[in-house]
Order: sequence, then structure tokens, then C-alpha cells
Amino acid sequence: MADKVIPLADHRYRAPVPVVPEGWQPPAGLLSDRLGRPLRDLRISVTDRCNFRCSYCMPKEVFDKHYQFLPHSALLSFEELTRVARIFVAHGVQKIRLTGGEPLLRKNIEALIEMLAALRTPEGQPLDLTLTTNGSVLARKAQSLKDAGLQRVTVSLDALDDALFRRMNDVDFPVADVLAGLEAAQRVGLGPLKVNMVVKRGTNDHEIVPMARHFRGTPIVLRFIEFMDVGATNGWRMEEVLPSAEVIERVHAQFPVEPIDPHYPGETAERWRYRDGAGEIGVISSVTQAFCRDCNRARLSTEGKLFLCLFAAEGHDLRSLLRGPYSDEQIAAAVGLIWQQRSDRYSELRSTLQADTGSGQRKVEMHYIGG
Ligand code: SAM
Ligand code: SF4
Ligand code: SF4
Repeated sequence: MADKVIPLADHRYRAPVPVVPEGWQPPAGLLSDRLGRPLRDLRISVTDRCNFRCSYCMPKEVFDKHYQFLPHSALLSFEELTRVARIFVAHGVQKIRLTGGEPLLRKNIEALIEMLAALRTPEGQPLDLTLTTNGSVLARKAQSLKDAGLQRVTVSLDALDDALFRRMNDVDFPVADVLAGLEAAQRVGLGPLKVNMVVKRGTNDHEIVPMARHFRGTPIVLRFIEFMDVGATNGWRMEEVLPSAEVIERVHAQFPVEPIDPHYPGETAERWRYRDGAGEIGVISSVTQAFCRDCNRARLSTEGKLFLCLFAAEGHDLRSLLRGPYSDEQIAAAVGLIWQQRSDRYSELRSTLQADTGSGQRKVEMHYIGG
């Protein structure tokens, strides 16, 4: 068998250096892309490393000991990340989610949180600052995260059955430790807490009802996520996607639910509440019900490339601007131009795009761009 060739990290995805427009204007906080979508939400991947090997995200066969993760010098520093965040906030971003890889593995993440928590929107409001984690070190870190100014966390948890959970994270990590992390987060007030469960038909779909039962009657909102075709390594097949409509049917058969209004336009999860008042659940249906129309999210990769869609093959190299001779205003103008030209809507076009295998472009990997 031929040796597997793994491309060097820095050259994995094309990312031209953005153009700084001549005669730039200071950001007015009112950006709109070609489909009329504002820029409200920035997701920042703070590390491409993870201590789990979930097969739908970082399959062990690809992300093994030979895989070259990014060197520390390639990552944006906390100062650079805060500078980018400030620029995006000036353009209307109100919510920042730290993700990865596993964000809690980034050394001294609390210092970054403190810096981001001090930012204010042009209206003088603090940001909605949150983080998505696999929960593995949350029990230990919940208090320091809260003290640093983090408002809430989303914890990923794909099963309650210990043997199945250990198989799904593929590093034999026990479910009890994640549940302890959730408890700690609740205790210190990192809420409202959410739990994300990626549902794979034939793997963990029998855990849907037990998970619903477990979190019913608590303030924790359980969200079921359709298995997505992110990246190029997770062997995605449509047969393994369990449509959210079926998730709702299964929950409803045990614990009747009814739909409720979104908190705000562009919310990724569709909300449902238990008719008996035992709380709510959500479904994220990016495969069967695209929600691109309201997508107001930008993503910053671990090494400072800006992606306008979770399924993009190409980013924009903001790190070059940050490390170049540009002022915040000039970089803001470049970001503004990029957003104004955005027309991404992959999920809406999925079926037509999948037929196009001739483009030679690789979609970006989830652990690198964040969820
Ligand atoms: N390591 C952290 C975690 O797992 O929460 C943060 C990063 S992870 C990439 C962010 C979210 O993406 C997680 O909730 C994870 O379950 C989800 N995710 C990863 N790959 C996915 C896929 N192929 N389909 C759907 N969700 C996926
Ligand atoms: Fe790690 Fe999160 Fe990806 Fe699982 S989903 S491998 S925990 S980054
Ligand atoms: Fe947004 Fe791209 Fe997802 Fe559509 S496919 S909702 S544009 S990230």
C-alpha cells in the first residue's frame, strides 16, 4: 500500500491575503452580505488539537501520531485574537464562541476570556461570550472560566451509555467525567447550559430518548445535531444522517413536545418544549433543513484564516494583515469588503455541490475551523 501523504498544516487550505481597500471608511457596524445577512456571530478556533478522536470529526486513522498539528507560532496570540475580536465587534458582532479542537486545551485560555470579556459593542454592551467543549476538563476549570468572565458553555455529549461514549470519543474517556463537568458548570453558574449530541443513525440513535429523559426537568437544553458532511475525512454518508424530524418524532412518542419561536432570527437550533413544562430541546438540521438564509456567522481558524461558511474550501488570511503594517481600521475595511462579497449557502446547495467532485477543492476540517 502506498504511504499516506499528509499535507503540511500551513498549506492545507487556500487563503489569499485580503485586499485592504483604498479610501477605507471606519466600520459603521452595519455590514450586510450579498444575501442581506448581517455579521453578528464570530466563532474562533483557538487550537486544532483535541484529546478526543470522535470519528465524525477527527477519525483516529487520519489524526494519528504522524499528523502534523499547527506549531504554536502559527496560532494567533491572545493579543492578536483580541484585536481581531475588537475589529469584528466594530462591524456588528455581538456574540463570540470559542471552539476548536478542544478549546480548554489551549494553555491559559482564561487569560483570553478575560481580554474578550472586557470588549464592548459600539452601544456599550458586553459580548455574549461562550465556549463549546467536550467537557473532559470542565470539572476542573469551570470556576476559573467563570471568574475570567465566561458567561456560558455548550458541552458536547453523544451518549450516556458509558461503553458507547468511550467508543464514540475513541480514547476510552468515561462519560461520568463529562457529567461531572456539566455539574460543575451548573454549580458555578455557567448558564444557560446546552448539551450538543451528534446523532449518527446506527451508532447512537438509540440514545436519543435516554438523553432526553436525563435532561428533562433540568435547565439544561439538549440539542440534537444532524451528522454533517464537514471536512473530507469523516466518511460521511447520507444513510447515517438521522433527520431531525425523526428525532422529534421519537422524543414526542415518549414525552410530547411542541415547537416554540426562536430567540432571534438566524438561531441555528429549532426549539421545542415539553408539553408538561419539563423544559426544552433543540434540533440542528443543517443537512435536512438548511438555515443559510439567516446565517450571520463568520469563523476564524486556528491560524487566523477567516471562513465565511462551515463548508468553505478557502479562507482569507487575516493573520498576514495582523502581522503586517496595517491599522485596525484598515483591517476592518478589508473584513468589511470580504463580508459584503459573501454569498455562501452550502447547505442549501448541498445536493448540487456534491455532484461536483471535479473542483479539486477540499472542504475545511471541523477541528480546525471549530463547530
Ligand atoms: N471539542 C469541542 C467539542 O467537541 O465540543 C469543540 C469543537 S467541536 C468541532 C464543536 C461541535 O461540532 C461539537 O458539538 C461536535 O459534536 C460538533 N461536530 C463535530 N463534527 C461534526 C459533524 N461531522 N457533524 C455534526 N456535528 C459535528
Ligand atoms: Fe474533539 Fe470536539 Fe472534534 Fe470530538 S468533536 S474530536 S471533542 S474537536
Ligand atoms: Fe451558514 Fe454555510 Fe452553514 Fe449555510 S452552510 S448555515 S452559509 S455555515
